[in-house]
Amino acid sequence: MNTEARILGPGQMESPAGEIRFLFLPGRDLFARRAERLRLLSAGHPLRDYLALLALLADAQQVALDGFPTLSLPDPGEQAFCREHGMPLLAARSWPRDSAWRAGLDRILRQVQEADLPAAARETVAGLLHAGEDALEERADRILAGELAGFSPGELPFVAAALQVYWVQMASALGEQAFGRLEEGGICPVCGSYPTAGIVRSGGAEQGLRYLCCSLCATQWHMVRIKCSNCESTQGIDYHTLEGSNGAVKAESCDNCDAYLKLFYLDKDSRMETVADDLATLTLDMLMDAEGKARGGPNLFFHPGGAG
Ligand SMILES: [Zn+2]
Ligand SMILES: [Zn+2]
Repeated sequence: MNTEARILGPGQMESPAGEIRFLFLPGRDLFARRAERLRLLSAGHPLRDYLALLALLADAQQVALDGFPTLSLPDPGEQAFCREHGMPLLAARSWPRDSAWRAGLDRILRQVQEADLPAAARETVAGLLHAGEDALEERADRILAGELAGFSPGELPFVAAALQVYWVQMASALGEQAFGRLEEGGICPVCGSYPTAGIVRSGGAEQGLRYLCCSLCATQWHMVRIKCSNCESTQGIDYHTLEGSNGAVKAESCDNCDAYLKLFYLDKDSRMETVADDLATLTLDMLMDAEGKARGGPNLFFHPGGAG
């Protein structure tokens, strides 16, 4: 598989019929499912207040997605160009954003404002509702460039939530056939972002196959197993689990680049949802941190300085 990927040149990236399905776009009910999962996980969890807040936020994301206006998107010529050159069609860092993402943010903020929010979150929401266009665009640029460390931890989930809705809207409106494989296997073929985690699918033709899940647009793309998503090394790969776990969640680490990515094994628990279950297993991140390994991709609801 590794050798095959290296000999594929630009223009030869389309997979022949019958090969592994390489892309699953997010469903239009993504955020409703995430909200449900967050509520389930929040019960009795040490981070229950934060997970419950994110459930409200996911509800608001679903409302914003359901009401999203039709956008102008790349035409078939541009789609073919990006496929032929192995470029992400909706590249997060360079895509000229439509102001509709800010209207989506406004909608999200107004909906969560109606809930019984903690005082700090209420203040953050009010602040963002009054922020100017330039200030919001600057925040978006920083999130999409991966500059999360200096970002306000309170604001991050809300601004990131609106960007997720915008990218999910665009990806699902274009459809799977618009996108092609990239030469770099560890970044999203739709938007070029890093994955939050990976899943090992259960059932159907994709039984036992590993897909990486985009931190921004929630697209899942195929990557062979036992391979580092960060540096694509197939040597020095180890698996780590928390003591007493049922093996549904493992961290796949790489000795070559010292990165790791969590994997969720859906045959152990089919209800797992990447973003929600990643947040609910932050103790595994602490374990990996103690091992000297760094995350191979972000969760936009987890500030590098700590949750919330
Ligand atoms: Zn993506
Ligand atoms: Zn690596």
